[in-house]
Amino acid sequence: MQEQINKLVADCKKQVAEANDLKKISELKAKFLGKSSPVNDLMKGLKDVAPADKPAFGKVINECRVAISELITSKEVEFKNLERSRKLQSETIDISLPSTKIEIGALHPITKVKNEIIKAFMGLGFNVAEGYEIEADYHCFQALNIPKDHPARDMQDTFYFSENTVLRPHTSPAQIRTMEVQKPPIKILCPGRVYRADDDATHSPIFHQIEGLVVDKNITLCDLKGILDEFARIMFSSESITRFRPSHFPFTEPSVEVDVTCMVCGGKGCRICKGTGWIEILGSGVVNRNVLSNCGIDPDVYSGFAFGMGIERIAMIKYGIPDIRMLYENDVRFLKQFR
Ligand SMILES: [Zn+2]
Repeated sequence: MQEQINKLVADCKKQVAEANDLKKISELKAKFLGKSSPVNDLMKGLKDVAPADKPAFGKVINECRVAISELITSKEVEFKNLERSRKLQSETIDISLPSTKIEIGALHPITKVKNEIIKAFMGLGFNVAEGYEIEADYHCFQALNIPKDHPARDMQDTFYFSENTVLRPHTSPAQIRTMEVQKPPIKILCPGRVYRADDDATHSPIFHQIEGLVVDKNITLCDLKGILDEFARIMFSSESITRFRPSHFPFTEPSVEVDVTCMVCGGKGCRICKGTGWIEILGSGVVNRNVLSNCGIDPDVYSGFAFGMGIERIAMIKYGIPDIRMLYENDVRFLKQFR
């Protein structure tokens, strides 16, 4: 019988050595150790052996079983390890690879410049007052001393919903609404989107404005000059100053166009400022007495000044942007420069 067992173990050893995957190993496991395996047959035969020989026979059969089991198990472990290391290899993360870059957004240049302007004026004691984009004709024109037959209405090229409702062409109605409900002193900034029927390299049908209004006792054109000079220094450069040129607006008297020192040449004269050394940034003036009266403020007691600037225009001057449409095209290559 020993010979038979030796042959069985040798046979198993040979087949295990030839096995090339886990599937084959589990087949061998069933073949050599399963219910109908030769080892099991030997065990079954034990009942026919004489009682005195049983322990010796049993020992030999058991040794055979252990030997076969070890052969198969060690090969099984070997395959399992191999498979695991192959799996690990395929799932290896190459930490030397450059990562996928996630682009971080940034404020749009118009928002950025708007925030800068607001910050500059808040430092000078102004509060923000926002109005409505759809406004009454009265708050956009009549209260601002622009009656229905006034030629300024053609200048504005306003979008009308109906005879009395418009898309606001300026943020001035926010000034009117503030003066209607608030007693002086008033010191407000009105930023917002405005609409005009205009479309070319320097005009867009939708653009953004910031207007300022100060109403108190003894407010003069000098106060306006002082505030705007300080704004120019904060916004553009410490060397910047402003200059006033006479103008005309129905809502201010006197009215002025305001220029600031050209930031490209510092006032010496260049192509950008057309050799003048100045760049126009806004319109302003002393609030017309009629406007104060329309809002229930006594013009004999109070006076004020107002100014209004296009945020796009300030952004274009500050960053040297040649075409207003670049601000609306949302070309990431353009916008990235302001990050
Ligand atoms: Zn210049």
